[in-house]
Amino acid sequence: MTPTRTLRIAIQKSGRLSESSLALIKDCGIRIQRGKNALIAPATNFDLDVLYLRDDDIPGYVADGTADCGILGENAVAEHGGGVTVDRKLGFAGCRLSLAVPKSVDYPGVEYFRGKKIATSYPVILGGFLRKHEVEAEIHEISGSVEIAPNIGLAEGICDIVSTGSTLFSNGLKEVEEVMRSEAVLVSRPGLAAEKRDVLDQLLFRMAAVQRASDAKYIVMNVPTDKVDAVRGILPGIKSPTVVPLADEGWKAVHSVVEEAQFWQVIDEVRAAGAEGIVVMPIEKMVV
Ligand code: ATP
Ligand code: MG
Repeated sequence: MTPTRTLRIAIQKSGRLSESSLALIKDCGIRIQRGKNALIAPATNFDLDVLYLRDDDIPGYVADGTADCGILGENAVAEHGGGVTVDRKLGFAGCRLSLAVPKSVDYPGVEYFRGKKIATSYPVILGGFLRKHEVEAEIHEISGSVEIAPNIGLAEGICDIVSTGSTLFSNGLKEVEEVMRSEAVLVSRPGLAAEKRDVLDQLLFRMAAVQRASDAKYIVMNVPTDKVDAVRGILPGIKSPTVVPLADEGWKAVHSVVEEAQFWQVIDEVRAAGAEGIVVMPIEKMVV
């Protein structure tokens, strides 16, 4: 491909990361001209081209300069990712890479795998794990449908991606060791040209604002004036909450931002402290 000054981001063409990757780019206010049928699609309002690739190929293409950055799972970075650096965790596609064995096995610990055959699409990560635990086993690399390997006598265990565990369960397997945790990340090539680095920094700044907003809520509530201090003490907003007088004397409106994880606890506490008429709104972007 011809060299370009436009930042090129690689995302998965079709699979578990595709939709969320594209949604994140769009939530950053970036419009992409063409759909996934093209290999490359330019943004119309940002200095960015989107390349649609297989996820396993993304680290290699970022490292060799075909793309400048990419979105993929940490598992793929660990397996194929020499030559790229992780700039940001993106908070989606959470999963783990685990070892699993047939349900009937009375699992004694990781030494179970000594001398056994393990099927996986992650030979590098699994090899590292086994070395760390000083277990010698035979790694049998296969590219898909790893979970059926024990049933067809191909292996005595597998090392594969798990999220709920239902695929393992329906194949008569159980998870016995967590090898690594993973979520989607943005990776880039070290030493990008300054103009591209500037665009990437702008993109990362927008992604941070989108992610911060996605786990925060804006809350507004009415509080009797003499209870405002107590309510302020409970609210963990970005800075101090905004307190506005109401037409009705003796009451104030208190505005604040609350993280999703603390949300219900905060609501219970401010209600107990005297807050009423609590309104909760989603936040679209949060720039701090
Ligand atoms: P490709 O055709 O692009 O090579 P693939 O089959 O290798 O696709 P997918 O199954 O689409 O990959 O998974 C892509 C990434 O999504 C994985 O590397 C992992 O980081 C994440 N992932 C996979 N399975 C799950 C899951 N069940 N839950 C959450 N995230 C997952
Ligand atoms: Mg793949």
